[in-house]
Amino acid sequence: MTKKYVYDFREGNKDMKSLLGGKGANLAEMTCLGLRVPPGFTVTTEACNRFYDEEEVLWDSLKEEIKTHIHDIENQIGKKFSDENNPLLFSVRSGAVFSMPGMMDTILNLGLNDKAVIGLARSTGNERFAYDSYRRFIQMFSDVAMEVPKSFFDSVLEEVKEKVGAEKDTDLSAEDLKLIVDQFKKIYEREIGEAFPQDPLDQLYLATQAVFKSWNNSRARIYRRLHEIPDNLGTAVNIQSMVFGNMGDTSGTGVAFSRNPATGENELFGEFLVDAQGEDVVAGIRTPEEIHELNRIMPDVYKQFLDTSEKLEKHYKDMQDLEFTIENGILYILQTRNGKRTTQAAINIAVDMVNEGLITKEEAIMRIEPNSLSQLLHPNFDEKELKESEVITKGLAASPGAASGRIYFSSKDSVEAVERGEKVIIVRQETSPEDIEGMIIAEGILTSRGGMTSHAAVVARGMGKCCVAGANEVRVDEAQKIMKAGNKVYKEGDVISLDGTTGYVYNGEIKKVDPELAGSFEIFMGWVNELKRLEVRTNADTPRDAKVALAFGAEGIGLCRTEHMFFQEDRILAVREMILAKNINQRLKALEKIQPIQKDDFYNIFKTMAGKPVTVRLLDPPLHEFIPSSEEDLRKLAEDLNMDFNNILDTVKELREVNPMLGHRGCRLAITYPEIYRMQVRAIMEAALQLKEEGVEAVVEIMIPLVGEKKELEFVKSEIVDEIASVFEENSDRIDHKIGTMIEVPRAALLADHIAEEAEFFSFGTNDMTQMTFGFSRDDAGKFLSEYVEKNILPKSPFETLDKDGVGILLEIAVEKGKSTRSDIHLGVCGEHGGDPDSIEFFNKIGLDYVSCSPFRVPIARLAAAQSNLKSKE
Ligand code: PEP
Ligand code: MG
Repeated sequence: MTKKYVYDFREGNKDMKSLLGGKGANLAEMTCLGLRVPPGFTVTTEACNRFYDEEEVLWDSLKEEIKTHIHDIENQIGKKFSDENNPLLFSVRSGAVFSMPGMMDTILNLGLNDKAVIGLARSTGNERFAYDSYRRFIQMFSDVAMEVPKSFFDSVLEEVKEKVGAEKDTDLSAEDLKLIVDQFKKIYEREIGEAFPQDPLDQLYLATQAVFKSWNNSRARIYRRLHEIPDNLGTAVNIQSMVFGNMGDTSGTGVAFSRNPATGENELFGEFLVDAQGEDVVAGIRTPEEIHELNRIMPDVYKQFLDTSEKLEKHYKDMQDLEFTIENGILYILQTRNGKRTTQAAINIAVDMVNEGLITKEEAIMRIEPNSLSQLLHPNFDEKELKESEVITKGLAASPGAASGRIYFSSKDSVEAVERGEKVIIVRQETSPEDIEGMIIAEGILTSRGGMTSHAAVVARGMGKCCVAGANEVRVDEAQKIMKAGNKVYKEGDVISLDGTTGYVYNGEIKKVDPELAGSFEIFMGWVNELKRLEVRTNADTPRDAKVALAFGAEGIGLCRTEHMFFQEDRILAVREMILAKNINQRLKALEKIQPIQKDDFYNIFKTMAGKPVTVRLLDPPLHEFIPSSEEDLRKLAEDLNMDFNNILDTVKELREVNPMLGHRGCRLAITYPEIYRMQVRAIMEAALQLKEEGVEAVVEIMIPLVGEKKELEFVKSEIVDEIASVFEENSDRIDHKIGTMIEVPRAALLADHIAEEAEFFSFGTNDMTQMTFGFSRDDAGKFLSEYVEKNILPKSPFETLDKDGVGILLEIAVEKGKSTRSDIHLGVCGEHGGDPDSIEFFNKIGLDYVSCSPFRVPIARLAAAQSNLKSKE
């Protein structure tokens, strides 16, 4: 049997997304549900892939299949392609498996030609409408399918409008539009070198081909890379009979969400335009009306639409994003899909839907993308400063958040400014898919045109980026690179602030404050805790970080890097004195100075974490990292320490290492200078003791870095930790503590059974483990790893997402071996991967007990842990 590449809407369903694309599958589903969907058919994603396999031309049998479906539609609705009396017209839309704003969007009114336009005028009794549709079609087809710039057509339109004194497009007469059609055809012929195609089948084949080609345009490729969509999925093409929203006052078109996509509120949310076609709404050419207005103008249609929206939401069990057209008072549904929303809305909707009995807690948890939580965790503007700030204008609160930055008026200028290290707000009249790169790197987006469903608004919400859209009081002049508000002019590089939650735009920068997380977020995260298995700790070395992490639900500290404490101003001099000491006595003297300060550090952290475990890692980096490098700073140091400059220089030379990452660091320092770790252990125990006396429990875990051999750990344990602990014990001041090690050297993973004999816990240092397994320097590999990803040599940077194939195997070996000699060994991870959802899934699978990540990633890790647990039970 020959392969089928074209499906009528009556043949598909919502589960056929990979073949029919998202749009096609949903059109089919709605058709089968009995909703009023204009008939049509879908050319499959497989056809797109074959198109690329076959030198990018449509093959004959595909053309035949398309033709057969056209005849079928002609029979269904009693109109004929290119008919002089009642012509059949189509819309052509791309439709990938995942919706992709970077791709070709829509061509409307396909099938119009010099003959059919007369038929359309006849059948509708409206010549003006017919020629208006024809001129729109020529422009859209030329722009979208043939890449003739839209601006060529716009300037002709403006010229004619000016000549005949028409203010709006709707003021143009049929005769004016005929003239415009003629001129548009001439532009086409001039640019393409051929007359505008009159055969509607040719038009359709060219449009189909253009959709296929748009799968690989640069915008689409950038979008795919950003959203990690595979390149080989291909796009489907949806060919659907036209209905007309531009047939007068009882017609119109609009887009609406079944719930508010910015806040999640359960109310219909959207906009529409009377007497217009779809692209007028999305492009922001005319300012649309709020959807509830439809209730006043066409109450019956409004009610039908409300019912349909509720029906579809119940059917899909998710908030829907709908497109509709009203033709002479009859409502048609042109699209439905799960609506993009802000994270705040996503959580509110998920919690509401659980309460409404529409979905389960488990489904609610699986719906939120863990990384998207970062949208909620970041600061808002400080209320006090906000009140005192100068308001420039107010637009639509299109995507919440707070952003300050310098304004730039193009994607290119924005990208360059970010490369110079600036924070950027991209300002455009309206954005288009070409602006995608600038939108990705900007702090926020401001547009002067377009509504809540304009390109800028939709894309910003999808990215979780702050956006104020349709601020129509400001005049944006992209060519001059200025923005005018009243009589004030803002130039490129001026600083403004956007509040995407209120729509206000302010002059200058505004301070930000941490968000408050309550309401649905708390309820939702409560469910997350019920359903996860992994414990989530945080990497924190200050009480401040620890407090933030606790507020985000951290269950302990999994990594307290003590070296960060060494850098603080009140002790760095003593630390340097200790490093530059010429003998043990001098070193001990310096350590005596550091010890009470360290004790204070630990006291404050243990107190903040009261009762929750704190894993303190003893000193890890090579000592030369604490010594300044410039001659000027070294001279100052000599002066401060009252030491001879040349003497210092000699020590600095001695400390210098060719390969410091593989050098004298971690537990290797303790073998050479046990007194350093002794000072740290004493500080830990004294801090815990003081808290004990105050009635506060410190749950102490001492962690030794960079162990590769059991005897290293044995040495640190017996010669340092046990020795100090025994001094406390002699005074009946026993401090309960666990001692464990990082597993971050491949040898430690391979010999984990031996090491576990000495370690009560393992914490995988996946940063160093990745570095040493690949032999990639973690400080330098960034320079070339992006090319590895671009050239498909590695799927992602292994420093961001754990390399399961290689590093992962070492972890599995270590887990198995560690458990073989100590069955209750506590296992965790504290490298950067501890906050990465993909890696967390792996850690859950191999049976770790906890992950530890930076404070702001704690909620993300908690959600990822719950999702991994649910997935493991599927
Ligand atoms: C690691 O190596 O993964 C780790 C957590 O330690 P650090 O990043 O401090 O080397
Ligand atoms: Mg490390």
